[in-house]
Amino acid sequence: MCTNSSMTKKLYIETVGCQMNVLDSELVVASLRKEGYELTDCTADADTILFNTCSVRQHAEDKIYSALGRLKHAKQTHPDKVIGVLGCMAQKDQRLVFERAPYVDLVVGPGQIHQVPRLVKEARAGAGQQLEVSLGRKEGSRDAIQRSHASFDPLRDPAMRPTPYQAYVRIMIGCDKFCTYCIVPNVRGPEQSRPPSEILAEAHQLASEGCKEIILLGQTVNSYRYRHGDRTTRLSDLLYELQEVDGIERIRFITNYPKDMTDDLLAAVRDLPKSSRYLHVPVQSGSDRVLERMKRGYTVDEYRAMLGRVRDWIPGVAVTSDFIVGFCGETDEDFAQTCKLVRQLRFKNSYIFKYSERPGTKGAERFPDDVPDAVKKARNNQLLAIQNAISEEDNQPFLGRQVEVLVEGPSKAALKREKQTGPPPVGPGKPAGPLQLTGRTRCDRIVVFEGNRRQIGQLLPVTIYDANALTLFGTVVTQHAGPELFALSSGNRPMNRL
Ligand code: SAM
Ligand code: SF4
Repeated sequence: MCTNSSMTKKLYIETVGCQMNVLDSELVVASLRKEGYELTDCTADADTILFNTCSVRQHAEDKIYSALGRLKHAKQTHPDKVIGVLGCMAQKDQRLVFERAPYVDLVVGPGQIHQVPRLVKEARAGAGQQLEVSLGRKEGSRDAIQRSHASFDPLRDPAMRPTPYQAYVRIMIGCDKFCTYCIVPNVRGPEQSRPPSEILAEAHQLASEGCKEIILLGQTVNSYRYRHGDRTTRLSDLLYELQEVDGIERIRFITNYPKDMTDDLLAAVRDLPKSSRYLHVPVQSGSDRVLERMKRGYTVDEYRAMLGRVRDWIPGVAVTSDFIVGFCGETDEDFAQTCKLVRQLRFKNSYIFKYSERPGTKGAERFPDDVPDAVKKARNNQLLAIQNAISEEDNQPFLGRQVEVLVEGPSKAALKREKQTGPPPVGPGKPAGPLQLTGRTRCDRIVVFEGNRRQIGQLLPVTIYDANALTLFGTVVTQHAGPELFALSSGNRPMNRL
């Protein structure tokens, strides 16, 4: 049971959706901490309850409306609790949120989250329901719409990061690609690149806080272009500048748009020691007919050629993709072509989604959502099975190899055990016991191994002895390592920077 005995104000925040939302929540928490808030993981305890929402698929919205439904009674018995809906669903639904859940106090779009502390204060002071959203794509000049979405905020909060050693850094907002299925250009506004000086300053700040890896975010991150005078900074230029930030050991960037995968970027990923050899480049479908209706702007052959270039330029690169199954009009033949492409291109992993019609998109306007849900589900499972078999096969060559792992923290299993039994005692005279840890290779493969708490945040050499589709299992290589560590290897190969 939750109890709120302290006088500090308590904040409960729940985040759904992509990495952008995780970062937005970090910024909201940082700004509310300045107002004296502390985090709680219990809604009953909380003075303020915020949902940072996603509208990419219907399921994500349903989840939030059900969570709001569960708070109706709490709000009746504790009318002083402030309840807020932030993010993409707030921007999309606006007043509809108040209509469906009249006890919600704030509705705040992703471009307005810097206003959350003021809006919470006003709602608490009895100013009534607060709505702050950005302009829609047709509600003003491009400049005015852009300004209404721009809210780059340098306030950070380590407690909200993926781990204390990894942080997201936004380098772009918005999207201008308008894929016909996608709501993002409507709710996140026009594509805008952030000035390199701000990105570098944030990277330095994160490094000084002990952060080892930064993950650059943009909906089409490789389209990054910042023009100042007659100079243009591209993503590759930015990577060269970030390489020089002391303390940062690894740099990743997501998500890439297939048509903007330029050679200068591939050369930077190949040549820069801190750059991850991992690229997420969603293809979405293996059928030209479907890609055209999605308005992705490339054919399957063009994607294949792009991937060929990526693999030629960057040996050992890991590439992942997204797929939408059951898009409007997708036939068995279209889907068979997608399966064929997955078998051919051998992605490290694929994220597979059932098409979800989004009101306000060109897809919803132009094409009926005519693939039955049962068919979408069956195609999803079939594609996932094909991908999993490939992922498992492609992890086998790692057996016996040594890889460099950035240690992120206890593994999921260790965290579950700690939840049941409580954390082990730490402090002087209490030796740190063995702990199952998890981390990632430079090509984004997850590695699980036995270690100890002191190793969290370090880059360690690990020898791999087992693998499944999603995970490599290994042993940390110590200076006193005996030959048994290399028993699976054909020889003492030098450590791969993988
Ligand atoms: N900007 C990224 C890109 O172009 O690849 C992806 C952004 S989107 C938030 C992440 C993924 O969600 C997409 O790659 C797509 O596979 C999926 N997605 C987007 N809209 C969808 C929809 N209406 N139904 C199902 N999946 C969708
Ligand atoms: Fe959505 Fe397409 Fe933009 Fe990605 S590129 S955010 S899928 S519109």
